[in-house]
Amino acid sequence: MPGGIDLHAHTSVSDGTETPAELVAAAVDAGLEVVGITDHDATTGWQHAFDAARGAGLTVVPGLELSTQLDYASVHVLGYLVDPDDPGLVAETERIRAERLSRAQSMVQRIAVDYPTLTWDRVLEHTTPDATVGRPHIADALVELGYVPNRSAAFQSILHWQGGYYRPHDAPPPLEGVRLIVAAGGVPVIAHPGARGPERVLNGPRMRELVDAGLAGLEIAHRDNPPASRARLTRIAKRYGLLTTGSSDYHGAGKPNRLGENTTDPAAYARILAAGTGSAPFLG
Ligand code: AMP
Ligand code: FE
Ligand code: FE
Ligand code: ZN
Repeated sequence: MPGGIDLHAHTSVSDGTETPAELVAAAVDAGLEVVGITDHDATTGWQHAFDAARGAGLTVVPGLELSTQLDYASVHVLGYLVDPDDPGLVAETERIRAERLSRAQSMVQRIAVDYPTLTWDRVLEHTTPDATVGRPHIADALVELGYVPNRSAAFQSILHWQGGYYRPHDAPPPLEGVRLIVAAGGVPVIAHPGARGPERVLNGPRMRELVDAGLAGLEIAHRDNPPASRARLTRIAKRYGLLTTGSSDYHGAGKPNRLGENTTDPAAYARILAAGTGSAPFLG
């Protein structure tokens, strides 16, 4: 969609398959006007994306996708325009990344009992230094070893949460995630709130609590939100005066999601820009 605003994309700093510079090139190719770089629990890709966007006619919105958890459900909270050096946010994202690392190692140990050529070193070969490590990297190793044809197949079998090898990783509750993002000058938006996990745990009272803590929006146009959920989420957004976004959640070749497949309207984008004080978009 030419001129579109797509506020949710991943790079090799987490589980995307392209570097931040490659993401910027792909966003330009897709004809986007604005792209958000929102790696899981990490902000280290921002500067590389900014550098690549210089003179490209593309605006890069810095953000992250914070991992949170409630009643064993994984809830992702996008944080736009946070201060990347905010001590509270830095400490918590470091803790989450460390937790994710030991959790991935533990899953690999369990999987290797039945898939003996899988080793931790194999998995690490599919990550960049300091990357936020997750199941997608284990998937890449399983693909390389010929156990599954691609990431999606791995997620539907060996890596599925009911697949027998799954382990959760520790993360703060969504309320704390929202507070951390707000304290870092950022704008919190719940990612794909219609997905199984958040749909199960984010009931009315909990949503109220998040709004009171400064939740700014809901990501509604996202392929993981089923149509019925979108209608419900739209009503919730109206009731609480939340902004709504639409995004691709691009992961490069790691997922079928294509840049610009969902976009955010300019008015909602303007609200995000007006509310964020921790960092600024890069106008390339
Ligand atoms: P984890 O956070 O380690 O539990 O892994 C979940 C991550 O894997 C999410 O951030 C998704 O981006 C990614 N993911 C989930 N399902 C798939 C899939 N079918 N194919 C590729 N990546 C996926
Ligand atoms: Fe991801
Ligand atoms: Fe997510
Ligand atoms: Zn994402």
